[in-house]
Amino acid sequence: MNHMTINDKYDYINEDSISECLKCKICSNPFIDPVKTKCKPKEHVFCSHCIKEWLQRDLSCPSCRQNVKIRDLTPITERIFVDVLNELPVKCLLCKQKGLERGDFDEHASETCIKRTSLCSSADIQCPWTGPYEELDKHLKTCPYTALRTMLIQIMANNRELTKQVNQQQIYIDRLQKENQEMKEQLPRQKVQTSNLPNCYRPPRRPQTRENTAKPPFQATHSSAPKLPCDNCPDCWRGAVRGSYFRGQLGGGFRPGHTMTPCDCDCHK
Ligand SMILES: [Zn+2]
Ligand SMILES: [Zn+2]
Ligand SMILES: [Zn+2]
Ligand SMILES: [Zn+2]
Ligand SMILES: [Zn+2]
Ligand SMILES: [Zn+2]
Repeated sequence: MNHMTINDKYDYINEDSISECLKCKICSNPFIDPVKTKCKPKEHVFCSHCIKEWLQRDLSCPSCRQNVKIRDLTPITERIFVDVLNELPVKCLLCKQKGLERGDFDEHASETCIKRTSLCSSADIQCPWTGPYEELDKHLKTCPYTALRTMLIQIMANNRELTKQVNQQQIYIDRLQKENQEMKEQLPRQKVQTSNLPNCYRPPRRPQTRENTAKPPFQATHSSAPKLPCDNCPDCWRGAVRGSYFRGQLGGGFRPGHTMTPCDCDCHK
């Protein structure tokens, strides 16, 4: 229990009817945090703060004038005595509510009293409003900070969505850049590879359709003089021995070893 020393928040109900043995001789109110002396034959009881204040001026008991030292004071913890004090009925001076028990008053004052001093629920974003709790709802309807909070939540949600979209697009851009880079790196290599190819391995200049395979064009890059056909180069034996090409097509065949002999065209050097 941690009751305030000067109580201006509640009144006792029917204080006159409260037994004198529950009241402090110094402040004449029901005890708050009662302590007892070591007076003999009967110990005396006072509010803790009352007797400590008293002993600063006078080292004798207010009731019997025996000597009292602060270190002799003992808190009263007897359950029945503490309960009787806690159950004293009080009335809240702020909201005028009756039927409260003194032991519950601190909770009433800080958590349920409709007149308790409150902060705006947007105090965390610097709304300076403070007032009775019962007026908080009215304030919230016009609180610019609370309106801002709604906007802030929307802005933050929009921001999250935009950030997500930007991230997705960045991933897409990164992928495109990577692909682009890979293609750039492959391009010179492909040029080199293409230039390394023999003439006859280059892609045909004209698409190979049935029409132009039936009558292949004369290859100007090859010598027009008759030569032996090579084994893997149709360009060559086309250019070299046109007659044998047609013989092959017609099923005439080549002599053994003939097709294994490379031609002396430029593309084999
Ligand atoms: Zn007292
Ligand atoms: Zn005494
Ligand atoms: Zn109240
Ligand atoms: Zn506010
Ligand atoms: Zn050849
Ligand atoms: Zn060739």
